[in-house]
Amino acid sequence: MNSSQRPQIKTRFAPSPTGRLHLGGLRTALFSYLLAKQGGGEFHLRIEDTDLDRFDPEATADIISSLKWAGLSWQEPILYQSKRLPLYRDYADQLMAADHAYRCFCSKERLASLREKNPHQGYDGFCRRLTSEEIQSRISSGLPYVMRLKLPQEGIITITDKIMGPISYPASQLSDAIIVKSDGFPTYHLAHMVDDHLTGITHVLRGQEWLSTYPLHHFIGRALSFTLPEYIHLPLITSAEGGKLSKRNQSVSVREFRQQGYLPESLINFLVLLGWSYDDKTSFFSLKELEGIFSTRGLSKSHAQFALDKLNHFNNHYIQKLSSEEFLSLVHDKAADLYVGQQAEALDQIVLLYQSRLHHLGELREHLAFYLNDEVNYTQVLKAMPFDLAGLEARLELLVACLSEVSWNKKEITGELKAIAKSRNHKMFDLMMPLRMAVTASMESPSILDIALGLGQHRTLNRLQSLLTSLPH
Ligand code: GLU
Repeated sequence: MNSSQRPQIKTRFAPSPTGRLHLGGLRTALFSYLLAKQGGGEFHLRIEDTDLDRFDPEATADIISSLKWAGLSWQEPILYQSKRLPLYRDYADQLMAADHAYRCFCSKERLASLREKNPHQGYDGFCRRLTSEEIQSRISSGLPYVMRLKLPQEGIITITDKIMGPISYPASQLSDAIIVKSDGFPTYHLAHMVDDHLTGITHVLRGQEWLSTYPLHHFIGRALSFTLPEYIHLPLITSAEGGKLSKRNQSVSVREFRQQGYLPESLINFLVLLGWSYDDKTSFFSLKELEGIFSTRGLSKSHAQFALDKLNHFNNHYIQKLSSEEFLSLVHDKAADLYVGQQAEALDQIVLLYQSRLHHLGELREHLAFYLNDEVNYTQVLKAMPFDLAGLEARLELLVACLSEVSWNKKEITGELKAIAKSRNHKMFDLMMPLRMAVTASMESPSILDIALGLGQHRTLNRLQSLLTSLPH
């Protein structure tokens, strides 16, 4: 087959709007998007809003804005299943007509008692055995019903997943799933099969939680003579402890990472490596690069563990790449509280000094504590310092004397400190470290001269005095 004959790749992301988009959902969307882009195909978005009980009216907007924020785009229009109800009904009727489905009139109470007696067994097939008279009389008396698949009760159903290979299920393990609920809405099982067929989806990528119901989908597809897409069930993302990362757990929603100031580039880079790899060497990928190199060959069978420190590592990388303007605008937007009561330009100068060190914006408050608050506690830094007390005291006094007189610009301060260091036979370190300790109450910081410059002469001198008075005597 030459490339002009090759069927175009068409993938879709088909979230149910039951809550905010979570990281697992974004990863599924990303892989589907990349597979389509890599093959020059189309990526579609379908909102599977047929489950009224679990519908969250804010979810769709959240899903759309989170996908856009992440940089993913799709072929318009977005398809909403709730607007296509008669279509699914037609296909359900076809299944009924071909005796692949039946009406089930069982009451909630009966089904609950079945579950109670045998929690591991599905529906017992009671209504499958009703005679046509019994069915007619139930319909005439207005009993509500659902439609269930009439699955084979014997034999083996073998399905193929692109990552897992062929998987066989004994038909006896499958239960006659509902395809149309008593409110007339289709269930996911039917609706997604119909839509994947009608929209010509060639590859379905979705979470491994759908593997157990895949045989049902396969049955529906065959019964309706659909050409089935290829299925790729993605390994789960587990929590750091190994449990499931759950949609109900808001700490994994994309919005939350966005609000915390994580960059979309970081989240994309982090997520693409949860269950996929390119080679052993490369770990930084932009979305554009991924669109060129993604392949299902790199997908893994094993679960991928969510590690926040990895995400932070990527975020640090992409924060470093921001221009000063971009970085400051992110900080102003996501960490505005730091600026309350502050002179913005002065704080900006200090904030910029930390750009290359940040893994996420949450770290800023701690880094800036010395700037935001004049009550500095020196207990810790005094325990860790490399000087004897007398030596430290002498240097602090020297710094006070020298910095009280100097005019407050970098050139002057540097020149003055160098001259003093030379005259006293000190290394610059011997002066810089006490200055750093006094100003930041730590032994580690970006350029201490830049920090002192930003803090101002008055406050810097006060800090030197504070440390002097904190020295144990
Ligand atoms: N609506 C399903 C979900 O949100 C989609 C599963 C699929 O992609 O087929 O998980």
